Amino acid sequence: MPRPISATLSLSALTQNLNIIRGFAPDSKVWTVVKANGYGHGISRIWRSLSSTDGFALLDFNEAILLREAGWQGPILLLEGFFTAEDLDIVGKYHLTTAVHSDWQIKTLAEAQISQPVDVYLKVNSGMNRLGFPPARTGAVWQQLRELKQVGELTLMSHFATADSVEGVDAQMAAINLAGQHISGPRCLANSAATLWHPQTHHDWIRPGIIIYGASPSGEWKDIAHTGLQPVMTLKSELIAVQELKAGDRVGYGGRYHASGPQRVGVVACGYADGYPRHAPTGTPVWVDGVRTTTVGTVSMDMLAVDLTLCPQAKIGSPVELWGNYLPVDDVATACGTLGYELLSALSPRVPVSVTDE
Ligand SMILES: *Cc1c(COP(=O)(O)O)cnc(C)c1O
Repeated sequence: MPRPISATLSLSALTQNLNIIRGFAPDSKVWTVVKANGYGHGISRIWRSLSSTDGFALLDFNEAILLREAGWQGPILLLEGFFTAEDLDIVGKYHLTTAVHSDWQIKTLAEAQISQPVDVYLKVNSGMNRLGFPPARTGAVWQQLRELKQVGELTLMSHFATADSVEGVDAQMAAINLAGQHISGPRCLANSAATLWHPQTHHDWIRPGIIIYGASPSGEWKDIAHTGLQPVMTLKSELIAVQELKAGDRVGYGGRYHASGPQRVGVVACGYADGYPRHAPTGTPVWVDGVRTTTVGTVSMDMLAVDLTLCPQAKIGSPVELWGNYLPVDDVATACGTLGYELLSALSPRVPVSVTDE
């Protein structure tokens, strides 16, 4: 028998999430972001359920090739563009759309021998200071690209740093509007947070990622609980042992948890080598046999411990959900000081994954 841990993916939730997202931005086309192997879900498992999208966005050439070879014929956007001149052969061969964020990429395009023009997303640095040209140069760079025979369709692109917080998008929108004041081409700006909360950013194409998978861009499940977005991944396991502690007994590596009185503790077949965060503190929520309880002690490589005080009926073999339908990944992430993005995309390859239509 395999270890009892597994992940299930709800394909109907994926399709429904995409439909809900279209409802938020009915006049925009959608780049469904599937970078990091579909935020840990596995591109090859999920892409067909998302095939009503207008395009897929990612940044790894291997993932782009995988999608093409799996049969996706629509647009594919490389969010970080090409990394070397040789990459342009792959861009051409697989008909990819590429971001352009640096002068060397323009020079490389200008010198490239390519049979078909490449569609380009010109990236503006509107304040995040990761990738892109300064707003003041954008008009000139657009013109420079427009004049290259190697360049096909041109789109203006930028990315928001604080669309999920009270700071919002106003300062970055002002920079983008300045950058694009003499540019009449299409625009692509909105990540998940901007898609949900800043309709003025929607324009021609949106780029939702995390909400496709039913987790919150703010890290707070309550922020999306009313939208109808559904968790796609459920990570589950079972109790493989139960310990009866007495006052003063300790649990796990470092003996960091001390029982203050008699206490039943369950041992779950799930650890950090499965993708569960090692830094999850005592008190991280976990669902055991129908009850929301908490972890106790340090997470091991292959196991973690849970408090069974609230579930006296739980025994060896009882079901455990680490996150998913009963327990939003956002709630687990919040307890760990991170986001659902990190937990989902860190799912370990050793965890068997199955898909369901429910
Ligand atoms: C990851 C990413 C997205 C999607 O972000 P979410 O917050 O998951 O919606 C959009 N655009 C770019 C450039 C990205 O890198």
